[in-house]
Amino acid sequence: MGRGFDPHPRSARLNGPVAQWSEQGTHNPLVVGSIPTWPTGNFRLAMLKKMEGEIHVPSNNQLSEFDDIFAANQTFAASFEHSHLTGIATRGLAIVTCMDSRINPLAVTGMQAGDAKILRNAGARVTDDVLRTLVLATYLLGVKRVLVMPHTDCRMANNNEAEIHAMIDEQHGVDTRSIEFRTVDDQQSALISDVTRIRTFPLLPKDLVVVGAVYDVATGLLNTVDCDA
Ligand SMILES: [Zn+2]
Repeated sequence: MGRGFDPHPRSARLNGPVAQWSEQGTHNPLVVGSIPTWPTGNFRLAMLKKMEGEIHVPSNNQLSEFDDIFAANQTFAASFEHSHLTGIATRGLAIVTCMDSRINPLAVTGMQAGDAKILRNAGARVTDDVLRTLVLATYLLGVKRVLVMPHTDCRMANNNEAEIHAMIDEQHGVDTRSIEFRTVDDQQSALISDVTRIRTFPLLPKDLVVVGAVYDVATGLLNTVDCDA
């Protein structure tokens, strides 16, 4: 594939999903000389209807499950005062933490909207996607320091990989063994290795400051972990 090759010509990208016209067997312009045009009028409507069935566009019924969310958003927007903010983390901080619903990362660290980047996943693990995000956050979005912040009473540390797969299989009949949950045997050593992974990632700035601390869900305190040993 040569430089400048675009497998999805602009007209197709603007007018509809590539999946639709690749169904027609014309997705590779190298094989087929002409580029199909996206259908218009009633035919287009019929195609879109067909797609709705295939891609499960949420029905109004599903939206109603979120009534509380959208109602709360109306209230939020009524007194919205952050329109001056940009995507730059004004206090230069990124926090890598767990998805646990007990953690409010901004409140825990005294940050406000606009101050910090928050990266969350199960267990606060430094995955490839966390590294990808940190590269963007450091070079383009003002991040100068990273706090890796797992927490006490984390499911990822309380159960091992096999137990979690078994639990899901027993309760839901789904075999999840094709994915790795990245559970943690020893939270402290996992944190040290995650901090080290960021510190040694070659594409990140050499002067990036990275530390680790465990958030205590019972006290609200951050307990720092020495990751320099
Ligand atoms: Zn957790």
